[in-house]
Amino acid sequence: MPQSTPVLGALAQNQTHDLATHTAVAAHNATAPLIHGLTTAQQATTHAWLLATGSPNTPPTYTQATALAADARRRITAAMAGQAAHAQRITTSAATAASALGTHQASTFAQHAGATTAATPAPPLDAGTTAAVNALPQQVRQDHDAALAMLTAAALIATGLAAVTAAVNRAKRAAARIRALVSWAITAAVAQGVTAVTRALQHPGTATVLLMWVAEPGACPACQAYAGHTVKPGHLFPGGLTTNPGHNVYPEPIPGPPRHISCRCTLIPWSHAWQDPGQPPMAQILRDRATRP
Ligand SMILES: [Zn+2]
Repeated sequence: MPQSTPVLGALAQNQTHDLATHTAVAAHNATAPLIHGLTTAQQATTHAWLLATGSPNTPPTYTQATALAADARRRITAAMAGQAAHAQRITTSAATAASALGTHQASTFAQHAGATTAATPAPPLDAGTTAAVNALPQQVRQDHDAALAMLTAAALIATGLAAVTAAVNRAKRAAARIRALVSWAITAAVAQGVTAVTRALQHPGTATVLLMWVAEPGACPACQAYAGHTVKPGHLFPGGLTTNPGHNVYPEPIPGPPRHISCRCTLIPWSHAWQDPGQPPMAQILRDRATRP
């Protein structure tokens, strides 16, 4: 028995919640050891500073500063060692799971809409995701090198412990970079999983099965504007949509989410044959839901 269109709209938007949860867990797992290591490095350097100078506000001598800077550099290097590879493993496995989540969600949605689905294999990670994962170690290395370059004897004498804080914060940009990659890879993989199922739902002589954009509740103006938009699989959503002209404009046409970093939008398969004629159109339901906080 097919569900009514509002019930299907709620189901579709709930799927963005599963996507957000999966992303939060993977982003935490990918970055927790790095964050912990850098925080520990900062604490150890502060402790060494107190032992050397007697006070957090006492500037070190040049000899002390040279030793403290070398110690802090060594600790940051140790904290970051192997962390890019760790994040690569987590990102790859989380994106692979996200592709399967996308096929599962699309199949579940289609069944609730009254369509019969054959089992669809989860598509492999696309070339863009693979390239971004492969580029990570080089980028984390740059964060590492930039942090170390800030840890000189002169910087420690001039700005005190703030120089250590600044260097550790510079190194922590690697964690922000990793979180962005994880989020991007997962959202893209879910959309690709949904797209694979949508293609498989198309049978000769039946109504076209489209991809419809689903934004999370309280989405940004750009993603709100994409909510309810449809394209045929293999076609691109238009660039530049926004509900707030002048803000959040992303000009490139795209095959699906993510529209931007940290975008948790998804797609559903949608056929006009599934629309409950007594209810508002699915596109309108998804637009309305996207604007609710
Ligand atoms: Zn979005």
